[in-house]
Order: sequence, then C-alpha cells, then structure tokens
Amino acid sequence: MKVLVIGSGGREHALTWKLKQSPAIDRLFCAPGNAGTAAIAENVSIAATNLADLAAFAKQNDVDLTVVGPDDPLAMGIVDLFAAEGLRSFGPTKSAARLESSKIFAKELMRSQKVPTAQARTFSDSEAALAYCEELKFPVVIKADGLALGKGVIIAENIATAKSTVEMMMKEARFGEAGRRIVIEEFLRGSECSIHALVDGKNYQLLESARDYKRAFDDDEGPNTGGMGAFSPANNWNAQLQSKFEKEMMRPLLSGLAKEEIIYRGLLYPGLMITVGGPRVLEFNCRFGDPETQALLPRLKSDLLPLLDATIDGKIDKCKIEWDKRPSVTVVLASAGYPGKYETGKPISGLEKAAKLKDVQIFHAGTKLANTEVVTAGGRVLAVTALGSDLAVARVRAYNAAALIQFEGCHYRHDIALGVANS
Ligand code: AMP
Repeated sequence: MKVLVIGSGGREHALTWKLKQSPAIDRLFCAPGNAGTAAIAENVSIAATNLADLAAFAKQNDVDLTVVGPDDPLAMGIVDLFAAEGLRSFGPTKSAARLESSKIFAKELMRSQKVPTAQARTFSDSEAALAYCEELKFPVVIKADGLALGKGVIIAENIATAKSTVEMMMKEARFGEAGRRIVIEEFLRGSECSIHALVDGKNYQLLESARDYKRAFDDDEGPNTGGMGAFSPANNWNAQLQSKFEKEMMRPLLSGLAKEEIIYRGLLYPGLMITVGGPRVLEFNCRFGDPETQALLPRLKSDLLPLLDATIDGKIDKCKIEWDKRPSVTVVLASAGYPGKYETGKPISGLEKAAKLKDVQIFHAGTKLANTEVVTAGGRVLAVTALGSDLAVARVRAYNAAALIQFEGCHYRHDIALGVANS
C-alpha cells in the first residue's frame, strides 16, 4: 500500500514515523517533508497548499491513502478535491473543517448546542467592536475569525490593547480576510488540556490526553508560539472530566453537526480550559496537534493505519486502541529569535548520539538536508520525545537527549513537565 503524508513539521514526521511501522505500507511519501521524513520516506517537493499538484501526484503514483497534517489544506478543501478525483484521504471536508477555520462558526454551533465555552460576541463591523470595548471588564480575548498562522488570538489586558487589536485585525486587515470578522470573548482562568478524538462521521474514540506549552520561555513568559513542548497523559484530566466532556461537549457537538448535515470524519482536537466551573472549549482544531502528536504517537501501541482507515470508513467503534502506560515528555528545540524573526541554514550536530538514548525519539520540524548535512530551516527545529516509567524519568531522558543536540542559537524551555505530579 502507498501512503502520502502532507506537511513538513514535527507532527508530520511523527505521523510518518508511526505509519512507517505499519506492515501494510510498502511505500511512504511526504510532501514536502523535512530532513527527518527524508530518512524514512520519500520526500516530494510539493507545498502542502498546492492542492492540484498534490492530487496529480497521488493519482500518478497510485497513492492509496493521503493523510493531511496541517489545517490550511483542510480549510482549502483538499479532502473534497481528492474525493472528487476518486482519491482517498484522511481529514474533514472543507465544510466540516470550518470548526477550526471559522471561530464564529464554531462558536455559533457551540452556542446552539449549549457546549460550555467562553461567553462571546462576534463582530463584522469595526465601529461596533470598538464601541463594545468601552463596556468590557479586562482582560478579554480577541480572536480573528479565520486561520492566522496561530497569531490570531490576542489577550487584551486593557482597553488600549483591545482597541488597537480591533483596529489591527478589522481596519488594517493584518490577517487579511481572516480578521475581517472577530470574536471578543471572556478570559477563562484554569489549566489547559488537549484532547484528540478520531471521529468517523457518527462515532468517535478518544486518544490519550496531553498538555502543551504555548509560551516561548520558562514559567510561561514571552510570546505565544506554535508550541514549545508537551507531555502525555495530562495531569489535569481524569475519568470524571472525561465523562463530562463526552456528555456536554463531544455528543452535543456531533449532533449539532448532524443537524447542519455536516459529516465530520477525521481527527478532532478540542483545546480545553479546565476551570473551577468545569471544562470549557477554547477552540476546535481539525487535525492532530503539534507538538502533542510527537508526545502521543510514541505512546500508541496500536498500528495507526487501521485506525485512520476505520475513521474514514465509519468503523472507529470497532477498533481497540492500545497505549503504552508510560508517560512521555516532548521538548521543542527552536531557532534563536523564534517566534519572531530567525535565521536558517545552521548546521545541526548530535542528532545520531541523541537518538541512541533509551526510549528517545527525535522528530524533525524545521530541518532540511543541505548536501548530506542536516541544517535548520524553520522556527521550531526539532521535537525531542522520551518515554519513562514516570514523568520525572521521561523528563530527564528528554532533556539529556536535547542537551546532546547543538545548533547556533538553539533555545528551548527547561520547565516542560517540571513540577507536575506523576500520573
Ligand atoms: P485558540 O487558538 O483559540 O486555542 O487560542 C490560543 C490560545 O489562547 C489558547 O491555547 C489559550 O492559551 C489562549 N486562549 C484562547 N481563548 C482563551 C480564553 N477565552 N481565555 C483564556 N485564554 C484563551
């Protein structure tokens, strides 16, 4: 069987790495991939958003299944296009992916289904939004409706920031069309938790829980990033929360989608805030999380391929998903300057030595091959994951491996899974 993974980040290396272990797959492609995927699959130099060329490649090469990593191609309708071309792919359709690509759509669906989430108002008129700022108690959270490269969520501590954010999104159109409409919502306090579900149109199965670290520096200082680390399982998740989540969030959401005649097939990852009043949905993501995937997949004992197939075929309820009980810790190594401006092309050393450590897996993100040398090619460069008998052991292993890897300007957080009670 031939499988194509779309994307070039750590998530896609982790997906490719896991699929590589599937006995049914004899040829694995990654488009465009990175230096990590190049070592275990065939990289194809087509951008993740070049849908027409991806479909043509899948056709010409008799690809049996395409697994879509990032949100952009899903929002652009890659799954619809592939279906129209008779190609099989894993991910929600464009209409279902609006759960992520339109925060207003998601908010309205949650409101109609009474899914617990932050109180919010939506605006398409900047003057009305500016006037609303006068009435608010701070902090508030201002979100661009559409996809904005993870930069479309601003926490406004005061009226001045709120107004300048509204101006920046709606008037200056800094995020283009994505910010023409916005959501202004209540700031929720609590701890975050990432839940992943394989949803097959009707049924779903939850994957293990995870927590990620969004801020750039230790102690949650600095700007928001794509994610600087993760661990699994989450220490703030338990059976009681899970049953509340399924009853109050997953099931009402799926029946809301059904009412709108939207069939959701793929990975659904709700980001939750666990507040004193219970869990609240912060957002929906329509694909695997990054770096949660790098923390989750090394714990997945089951073959991933049959799970993806069952999700597409509406049979996920028939599957048994087995997990390694041991927790995992993932540390992201980033380029100097990230999430702001950074340089690329820095040679990376120590990868082989680090990969030899027990229960350690190195996932590449922003890397590429320059001749035979692995060099940096992005902001988030590598994700180092380790398993351990408990979180503390996993943590030490991940950091020991990270310490062996060097490139100019390499920085990472030192507090991933630090001070977290073993679960
Ligand atoms: P989102 O893309 O909506 O998940 O937002 C990105 C990040 O912003 C979340 O992971 C939270 O850390 C933060 N965030 C979003 N919405 C809220 C909220 N209502 N209250 C507090 N923090 C939020």
